Amino acid sequence: MQSTGKKVGGVDISSISKILHLSPPEVSLLERIEKEMTIGLRVNCGDETMILNAYVVYHSTARGPAKGGIRLAPNVTLEETRDLAERMTWKTALTHIPFGGGKTGIRIDPRTLTSFTKSLIIARLVQEIRNELVSGNDYIPAPDLGTGPPEMAVIYNEIRNPECVTGKPTHVGGLPGRKEATGRGVSYSTIYALEHIHSIDVKKSKIAVQGFGNVGSWASKFLYEKGAKIVAVSDIEGGTYNPEGLDIPKLFEYSKKNRTIKGVGGKVITNEDLFSLDVDVFIPAAVENVIDKNTANKIKAKIVVEGANGPTTHEGDIILSKKGKTVIPDILANSGGVIASYVEWKSSKSGSITKRQEVYDTIEEGIGSSYKDVIAAAERYKISYRNAAAVIAVDEVVKAMHDRGWA
Ligand code: NAD
Repeated sequence: MQSTGKKVGGVDISSISKILHLSPPEVSLLERIEKEMTIGLRVNCGDETMILNAYVVYHSTARGPAKGGIRLAPNVTLEETRDLAERMTWKTALTHIPFGGGKTGIRIDPRTLTSFTKSLIIARLVQEIRNELVSGNDYIPAPDLGTGPPEMAVIYNEIRNPECVTGKPTHVGGLPGRKEATGRGVSYSTIYALEHIHSIDVKKSKIAVQGFGNVGSWASKFLYEKGAKIVAVSDIEGGTYNPEGLDIPKLFEYSKKNRTIKGVGGKVITNEDLFSLDVDVFIPAAVENVIDKNTANKIKAKIVVEGANGPTTHEGDIILSKKGKTVIPDILANSGGVIASYVEWKSSKSGSITKRQEVYDTIEEGIGSSYKDVIAAAERYKISYRNAAAVIAVDEVVKAMHDRGWA
């Protein structure tokens, strides 16, 4: 099945509906965003008042409260926020987590902000959507680009209910293992694809990772610990390449204290050249749309594991598919973060204490089980893993809509 590509790397409902034999009302319900707000956020910073564009999108709450991070970025748009909210709907559905999909985007460069100003912005956002956060949890935020545990603590401070937000600092209801959860899941997804799909021993594998932030650095660290050779990693400034394998623990520590890892422990490499390295796995773990019609043609890796959300454009996806690459889609590969968020939410509700290893085990069980479902659906319908993941997720959401009497 060839997607018609209605969405950039997202789910093409019209193609999926043919497989699932969905009715026109079901399709139109799935294609509609449930609720969205564009807010002119007035933030009084003492000496000046900033007015920021904020977008809050709940794509679907059919399966539970909308779950999704708060992104601070200079170029974030309503369109991008919708796309990311929708990915959360499919990610939570694929992994059978009782949440829907949502997202918040605030248009500001987080690098220009002090932590105090960031906390003012988040507190103002909470004032605008307070009802959604308190009244039965319509929306449960989490960190995304430009936000982290301190900003989630601001939400907790404002609402005073630990289950209203995930990604909190560990001393106020946050989960040990949450900060590395997405990277842990990406590393597990990579090992699964290497060993179960390609019969390649992880210890004999060569891997390149784009993005050495939260997701990329933790995924690299876990894969290194399992014996993989990480030959190249990069950040926005450029990368570092060592065909003998990089010393990832050293780079990991280095990256915490320095602005860039460009050329550290290896030769300088551009983000452009990273695509054409002779590796088994390429992990895009930085930003959207980096694998397009130009870069997809350069990729030599047999396996692409989407650590970032939406790193592959529709054109890029078609090229990867024609070249016979195994693509592990974002809604499967990076679902470790939302699985851990669910564990945090449950712990916050019940007051129970969860250990780091339990979080790791839950991530691996969740991703392992989704993998089995995706591989079975891909074989059954003779479709790509991306479309198989979408078929399972859409089916889950449609069933929930029926159970709630919406369709
Ligand atoms: P981050 O800000 O911690 O790290 C991003 C990294 O990418 C940095 O090293 C940055 O320098 C690099 N980068 C930015 N632009 C780049 C470019 N054009 N080329 C190469 N490198 C570039 O962000 P993160 O939390 O690691 O998130 C990365 C991606 O993973 C995003 O798409 C995010 O939505 C997705 N994601 C994150 C989580 C999570 O729990 N953090 C969960 C699911 C998905």
